[in-house]
Amino acid sequence: MLPDTGCPKASKKPPMSTQIEPKPSCADPFDPSSIPLDEALRRIAERVQPVHACERLPIRECLGRVNNEAVKSPYDIPPHANSAMDGFALALDSLAADGISELEEIGIAYAGRPFEGTIGQGQCVRIMTGALLPQGTDVVVMQEQAEVSDDGLVRIDGSHSSGENIRQAGEDITRGDIVLDAGARLNPADLGILASLGIGQLQVKRKPVVAFFSTGDELVSIGEPLEPGKIYDSNRYTLHGMLSRSGVDILDLGVVPDELDAMRETLADAAARADLILSTGGVSVGEADYIKPALEEIGSTEFWKIAIKPGRPLTLGQIGASIFMGLPGNPVAVMVTFSQFVVPAIQLLAGTGMQRPALFRARALDGLRKKPGRYEFQRGIATQDENGLWQVARTGKQGSGILTSMARANCFIVLPDASSGVEPGDEVDIQFFDWSL
Ligand code: AMP
Ligand code: MG
Repeated sequence: MLPDTGCPKASKKPPMSTQIEPKPSCADPFDPSSIPLDEALRRIAERVQPVHACERLPIRECLGRVNNEAVKSPYDIPPHANSAMDGFALALDSLAADGISELEEIGIAYAGRPFEGTIGQGQCVRIMTGALLPQGTDVVVMQEQAEVSDDGLVRIDGSHSSGENIRQAGEDITRGDIVLDAGARLNPADLGILASLGIGQLQVKRKPVVAFFSTGDELVSIGEPLEPGKIYDSNRYTLHGMLSRSGVDILDLGVVPDELDAMRETLADAAARADLILSTGGVSVGEADYIKPALEEIGSTEFWKIAIKPGRPLTLGQIGASIFMGLPGNPVAVMVTFSQFVVPAIQLLAGTGMQRPALFRARALDGLRKKPGRYEFQRGIATQDENGLWQVARTGKQGSGILTSMARANCFIVLPDASSGVEPGDEVDIQFFDWSL
């Protein structure tokens, strides 16, 4: 893992416990040793600590980065009362409650070029949007509601009130307000707010580094011939895609053969360079599996069966300060476990804290078969019906190797532990795909 230095106010990283006592679970009636999804998330949260190191960057480069320390506003925004409209600034007292008042126009206030004088009774100033409110005025009448007569007088009726069309000083941000929390991921509006405060640089956490590799003797990389029994490695490409939108730096370590030495070397190399190491494949029971012995030699490991489908087997380990997550090999299971477990782990590393994706309610267009006792993540296409309500159809075959079921989908249909299936017309939860954090 990268050296974690140079960040003020960083607390020491607590050591990760290496062993987890097996917990009895009733989550999956077919496999009593499996753990529920929430329990797996809780254990991940216990182990993954935010990166400490920070860097100071020009704010344009901070988009999508995680803020290190809360930012307080040094000013009121807007800094002064100003006009929200093009019109006429005046004192409300100058207007008769009934009938039309005629005012003398004594100057113009432009945005950035204030009117210097004071406006007296019966006077007004033409004012542009964003211009400083002239002294002695408390209302801006929009130009559409005023009439300039042939002799140059401004005619306004009595239907106006004090404060109309005026943006008060500090109405957006008051001096001393926290405008950006520690741990906030910066969005475009945040960049604008920082700029409005004259802040040109910000201290953000360094990006987590995520290394990933595939395992399996059946895998060949693109460009190599496809001999009988071999398949092209697709997981590294879906992982590359998902990680590229996750605000991390990525290291693609290729395909690692099913050999102990190669596995140990790859893991040690990855641990020296990355905060999080992901592998796919080789975590099913009974495989020619070298991840487990290699991890045990140079780190620690736990094998979990999680009560979800697809994506049941998951390995969590640690090598030095780096976290290892071994995902299943099946391409859909990779994407499901990435969305449910890797994304939260990246959020924790990045320093934003775990943020669970929102669930929306939708009407199922298909019947969905399911056994109780585990979460299922079926793939769906959500659309809105003629009343604007969400409805969701299943994307055909749902096998965990059928990647087209993901490619055609825009959401997971999330069927919770207790569900024993869905009839057409039932309400279900959906989780929209969003690989960006
Ligand atoms: P495993 O978890 O290694 O038993 O793999 C489960 C299934 O996923 C097998 O059919 C593998 O061939 C397939 N698989 C594993 N890794 C990959 C990969 N990188 N790309 C495509 N398929 C894979
Ligand atoms: Mg395999």
